[in-house]
Amino acid sequence: MPMPPSPPLGEFARIERYFKPLAAGMPGALGLSDDAAVFEVPPGLQLVVTTDAMVAGRHFLADDPPAEIAAKLLRVNLSDLAAMGAQPYGYTLVTSLPRTCPESWLEGFVAGLAEDQARYGIGLLGGDSVSTEGPVTLAVTAFGLVPRGLALTRSGGQPGDLVLVSGSVGDAAAGLALLQGRLGSLGAEDDAFLINRLRRPEPRLSLGQAVRQQASAAVDISDGLVADLGHIAEASGCHAVIEAARLPLSPPLRRLVANDSVWLATALTGGDDYELVLTAPPARLAGLTALARTLGLALTPVGHLSEAAGSPVSVIGADGRPLALARTGWQHF
Ligand SMILES: [Mg+2]
Repeated sequence: MPMPPSPPLGEFARIERYFKPLAAGMPGALGLSDDAAVFEVPPGLQLVVTTDAMVAGRHFLADDPPAEIAAKLLRVNLSDLAAMGAQPYGYTLVTSLPRTCPESWLEGFVAGLAEDQARYGIGLLGGDSVSTEGPVTLAVTAFGLVPRGLALTRSGGQPGDLVLVSGSVGDAAAGLALLQGRLGSLGAEDDAFLINRLRRPEPRLSLGQAVRQQASAAVDISDGLVADLGHIAEASGCHAVIEAARLPLSPPLRRLVANDSVWLATALTGGDDYELVLTAPPARLAGLTALARTLGLALTPVGHLSEAAGSPVSVIGADGRPLALARTGWQHF
């Protein structure tokens, strides 16, 4: 395959200076000096693999701080591992950067990766770095481990199961609205909270691993609660009912909803929260919420699964009548 033109620093110098230190804790990465990585899956475990790409202007704003772009890139991938009940192990990275990309950007980006590697106990296994005339494009493939046969999937939901949501929903969409000027400031503290929820989502890894044998199905919220719960409903051959009044909302979002009900629709359909949606038989509710509490996390019942019917998901408003939603998913900006 022909090599793309080298960026100013030179591909090998760039790997040596910026990426090799990220692989230091990973013997299987072979110092990023070989053709591929080699690692052992311990006996009794299975490998869980996920990949997610982000494009500037579409999944993040081009002028977002590079350390925050790095954090988001890793965390959206780790969130998929969380939804499968897996423990993260390592990742590969593809960067596609304009040749004009300043070194200071790369420094910030790598610092963000290093910080989250330490936070989540993972390391870099390999990757590729190319130049592009187009927008910055970044891709991570994350590898995780799960005890054989215990990976959580989207297909195990049963009619009668409760639908539970971790943390709170709608915050990231409100954070994006703030950054795009579609929502005026709510005060420094609330603004910072909401924007942080957008830029540094917290993958619910401990929760995913803890509920492996108790939840019947799981998915993480990347495209919005309605859309992602719809994936569980379809894969499980069920219909899902959400009771809007039960949605877990953060204090700032609760205030927004009180002023304008459009924010309730945002909480239902806004993406990028990276909370987990679980289904489980009602008998497991008390155990699951107690378990989540030990992890410092709220786990809120928001609805249930029923026999398959027309649409995958319906939403019941506070007045008990069905809510019509203009959007069922997340349109990236
Ligand atoms: Mg996902």
